[in-house]
Amino acid sequence: MLDCTFCKIVSREMPSQIVYEDEEIVAFHDINPQAPVHVLIVPRKHIESVLDVTEEDRGVLGAMLVRAKDIARQLGVDEKGFRLVINTGKYAGQAIYHIHLHLIGGRRMTWPPG
Ligand code: 5GP
Ligand code: ZN
Repeated sequence: MLDCTFCKIVSREMPSQIVYEDEEIVAFHDINPQAPVHVLIVPRKHIESVLDVTEEDRGVLGAMLVRAKDIARQLGVDEKGFRLVINTGKYAGQAIYHIHLHLIGGRRMTWPPG
């Protein structure tokens, strides 16, 4: 997608601090971290939101979750715990319409979220 920030990060047109990448996904540090660890895990494929996923996306969505575990370990938040979030739509505060999994950790979090 021409004007999508995360497509530009995936294609390296825009810089980011990448922590993991493979043929399906890219993970990089959030530019405005909400915790000591805040990584975004995105598919290379432009999918706007959870509302747009299809059966053919099962593999990449699974890969995002499996890699989230590895990245949590890599960044040392696995033992104390972390949160995985996919904001979807206006009320959830989705700002970038390229699906992304937030991996947030390194501090205690409250529930319910704001
Ligand atoms: P959303 O609100 O859509 O779930 O989250 C979008 C996230 O993308 C926010 O946490 C925001 O800080 C992050 N973000 C927005 N623009 C950029 C960028 O250009 N680079 C990086 N690394 N993160 C970004
Ligand atoms: Zn995109």
